[in-house]
Parts: sequence; structure tokens; C-alpha cells
Amino acid sequence: MALDVVTRGFKRVSRAGLGKVDRAAARYVQGSNQYLLLALSTALPFEVFFLIADGGTLWPAALVEGAVIAVWLGCFALNVAGWVRTVSIVELVAPLIAFTVLTWLLSYRAGFLLPMLMTPSVSFVTFAPRRLRWGMVLTTASAIAVAWSFIDVRVAEPRLDVSTGLVNGLLVANVVLITVVTGTTSGLNHYYFSRERSRAERQLEVAQEQARTDPLTRLANRRGMVEALAAVPTHRPYAMALVDIDRFKEVNDTLGHSHGDTVLAEIAGILSDAIGELGIVSRWGGEEFLVLMTDVPLAAAVAGIGRAREAVEALMGAERGGTGVTFSAGLAAASPGISWDTTVRVADALLYDAKDAGRNRVRYAQVRTDLSE
Ligand code: GH3
Ligand code: MG
Ligand code: MG
Repeated sequence: MALDVVTRGFKRVSRAGLGKVDRAAARYVQGSNQYLLLALSTALPFEVFFLIADGGTLWPAALVEGAVIAVWLGCFALNVAGWVRTVSIVELVAPLIAFTVLTWLLSYRAGFLLPMLMTPSVSFVTFAPRRLRWGMVLTTASAIAVAWSFIDVRVAEPRLDVSTGLVNGLLVANVVLITVVTGTTSGLNHYYFSRERSRAERQLEVAQEQARTDPLTRLANRRGMVEALAAVPTHRPYAMALVDIDRFKEVNDTLGHSHGDTVLAEIAGILSDAIGELGIVSRWGGEEFLVLMTDVPLAAAVAGIGRAREAVEALMGAERGGTGVTFSAGLAAASPGISWDTTVRVADALLYDAKDAGRNRVRYAQVRTDLSE
């Protein structure tokens, strides 16, 4: 419950100011917001400690920590207002300076230079791409500063009058700080990566579905049907029907192309309803449909296509105020082992027979020899 409130608060703050920038910069606005939130929440305990510990001896440290907190608050305000680029430098340089001064005040043994080593991981989420090289410069400088501090006698002993125990305690606190910040950053990266990946997967699924679908008739298009055909188990009986609308050119010529489109979509609907569970109906091209019926004997396939032909005649007949369109079909039922391209070729030949014989009819045959061999 409390965790839920914290998570929601964190999300809300990290999304502040996103509307003001383009999508590419948004990543860095959000990155900076998250970094600043983490930085501020880890700096506050230090500030409170510096203010109350040792009866005020640590006031110079409190001043430095207070200054960096103020800079970070200012950075947050600027970041939300759209000043992404300026903020990306200031928000990292300010703590580098502060950590150096704190090291000078409290010695390298207090561990204030160690958080500098987080600069590389932070700069990748807060810097706009063009500025990433600045991230690398800061990273290198921080690494050198950290390494140097361990051989520089000037920071070997604290300037402030503090006990060894306190210095050791600060080292522990700094190690905890690094662990919390790097752990949270990695956790966040993992979360955003997983979210982006599942989003991309969903979009891919939608795109693939669209690539297989004809937008006018909502049927499978040729690509979708070819995929379905590739999966046909040819060792079992199946049938294919090529359906072609009769004198469709005339419909276009007399009623217009867009009315022709409506008729096409209507016929697609009637055809799918009539075939139902018997098979898959696809728009094979132009005003031609290919119907695939797996595990269906010839008689049942003929009955299915016949039903569709009668339904089109009944629903679109001229006497009922329709456009009077009909269709012709060639239906080929494949014996086991016949390839689908042979079956389509036979169906096509049968369709021509149906057209020659006067249209508005179905011609069918059983295919027993594979022509492709
Ligand atoms: P047949 O009975 O011999 O099949 O005559 P037909 O006029 O239907 O044959 P043809 O193949 O000569 O003409 C098909 C027409 O289908 C030509 C083309 O303009 C039309 N057509 C193809 N695709 C579409 C489409 O998406 N929308 C519309 N409105 N018409 C289309
Ligand atoms: Mg045609
Ligand atoms: Mg036609």
C-alpha cells in the first residue's frame, strides 16, 4: 500500500515536463527527473546528519550539501520547464564539486569521492545524445579525481574536528548510497526495457495481422492465404474454390468504382457467412476470392459454394433492388498428396469453364494427379 503510493508518486514526478519536448528528448527529461529524485532523497539524510551531528562541528559540510541540494532543486524546475541540455551538465557537475569539497573537509576516508564513479551510468540516462561525450569527459575526470585522492596527502586527514568513528560511519553511508542509487537505476532500466519490448511485440503482432488482411473486405489477403496454404496438410483431403464476380467491370462502369467496392465487400461478407466453419475465405486478387476447405469431402465443398452462389443471387438479385451481380466458381477437391498449386490451377481452369458455360454457376472436379510433378 505504502509502496504503491511511493511508486505512483515516483512515476508522476519522473514524467513531469515530458509534454514540453519531443519524443527523443523526453527520454532525457525523464532520466534527469529520476536521477534528481534519487539524488535528492539520498542527499537529505546526509544534510540532516551534518546539521545535527557533533553539536554543529560539521556546519561547513552542511553548507556544501545544502548548496548541492539547492542546485538540484533548481535543476528540477529548469528540467520540467524544458531546459534539458543545461540541466544535464549542471546536475552532474554540481555534485562532482560538492563531493570534492566534502573530501577536502572530511578526508578521502569518508568515501565522498566514490559516488563520482556513478557518473557514467547516470550520464547515459540524463544527457541528450549529442552531449554524451560530455558525460564521458566527466566520467574520466571523476575517475582520475577518485584515484588521485588516494595518493594525495592533502586529503588524507579531515580538516574538520571529527572522530575516526564518524568518518568511518560516513564511508558506510556512502557505500549504502551507491548501492541504493545503482540498484534503483538498474531496476528502472530493466523495467523500461521490458515494457518497451512487450510494447514492440504487441505492435509487431498488430502489423503482421494487418499485413495478412485485406482492408476493404476484412478477409485474409493473398499473403495471408499463402501462409494458410503453406500449412495445409496435403496428406488429407482438402478442396479449393476460385470465385470470380461476373461482369464486374460493368458494375464499375455503370455504378462507379466506389459502389463497386461496396459490392465487393458485400459479396465477401455473404461468401464468408455461407462458408462459415467449412473453410477460410480470402481475397485472392481484384474481384477474385479463393476459398480453402480442409478435411472436407467434394460433396460438402460443392454444397458450401453452391449455398454461397444462391445467397449472392438471392440477396443481390436485380429483382430485389440489388445490382444483380452473380459469381462463377471453379472448385477442385484434392486427393491426398496433391500440392496446393496444382489444386489452384485446376480450380482456375474450372472457373473458365463456368464462365464459358454462361456464368453464375459452379464447376467442380476431383484432382487425382499432381500436375506440378
Ligand atoms: P467476368 O465475368 O469475365 O469475370 O467479367 P469481369 O468484368 O468481372 O472481368 P474482368 O477481369 O475483365 O474485370 C474485373 C474488374 O474488376 C476489372 C476491375 O476494374 C475490377 N476490380 C478489380 N479490383 C477491384 C476493386 O478493388 N474495386 C473495384 N471497384 N473494382 C475492382
Ligand atoms: Mg477476374
Ligand atoms: Mg470477373
